[in-house]
Amino acid sequence: MRIILLIAVSFTYLFANAHIFVYHRFGDDRYPSTNTTLIELEKQFLYFQRNGYKVVPIENIVQKIKNKKDVPDNWVGLAIDDAYKSFYNNGLELFKKYNYPFSLYVYVEASEKKYNDFMTWEQIKDASKYGSIGLHSFGHKRMTQISPAQVYSDTKKAYELFTKKLGFEPKTYVHPYGEYNEAVLNELEKFNFDAIFNQSSGSVSKDSKLNDINRIALVGKVNLKNKLRYKTMNAIWEEPKEFPNDGILKNVKASVSPKYKTIKLYITGYGWRDIKVNKGIINENLQIPLKKARTRIILSPDYYTIANKIIIKNKKTKEK
Ligand SMILES: [Zn+2]
Repeated sequence: MRIILLIAVSFTYLFANAHIFVYHRFGDDRYPSTNTTLIELEKQFLYFQRNGYKVVPIENIVQKIKNKKDVPDNWVGLAIDDAYKSFYNNGLELFKKYNYPFSLYVYVEASEKKYNDFMTWEQIKDASKYGSIGLHSFGHKRMTQISPAQVYSDTKKAYELFTKKLGFEPKTYVHPYGEYNEAVLNELEKFNFDAIFNQSSGSVSKDSKLNDINRIALVGKVNLKNKLRYKTMNAIWEEPKEFPNDGILKNVKASVSPKYKTIKLYITGYGWRDIKVNKGIINENLQIPLKKARTRIILSPDYYTIANKIIIKNKKTKEK
């Protein structure tokens, strides 16, 4: 059984990898940490165009994953989170010029209550002529910090308002702050989204999980070529599954291709280290106190082919 498993793991490593990128604000230099200038955006679009990349609707990528079909290497999906006005006023024009589809993710409370910086429902409806619209929660809360019942009610409220205002149901969901855990996913599952996206450097392949699809953030000036190098390394992740209650990371356990004898392990706050792989099995004893409430753990042979896991400390952990 173990042998069959490992062959499957090493084989899937060969498959194609598409990339989904996330933007936030456009041409809005008040917020450099979430902004992409229009000059930079056009540079990126030209890079896609000149290097054989095809910007496709994210739904096409989801369909491939659903059908367990290879996702072409040159496919790129573009997402825009929060539905800031700067997308409508600045960014959208360039998407139209290049005829690039996008998925726009609505922070429902902000649009509903007409917060200054956010698109109105009318603007979102207009944008839906050029791309698809998905859900980005009602209250944009840190979902790992509220109860499962609150996650459910936030999503229900968002789902219903979205449907009422736009006249169609949201088919995809992205997490506020990219933060989630098993409990959050369990609640979201009740809404039957076609796909749920994270925000994590990695690629998309037919082995991606429909409720955990990688998206790479693009902010400011970026080296697109490097971002497009990210590939998914298939790993069967065993430990850790969640942020440890006592804050001590005991070990990292996973199965990877047996072709690796050593591999690099990254832990937020600790950087990279080399660890041993024994016949495809990683079992690294660590016993280290985690430094960040949001900790990323990455396994990679080369810094670009990666399997990763984000674990987030939740309120319950803190109280213990
Ligand atoms: Zn957001």
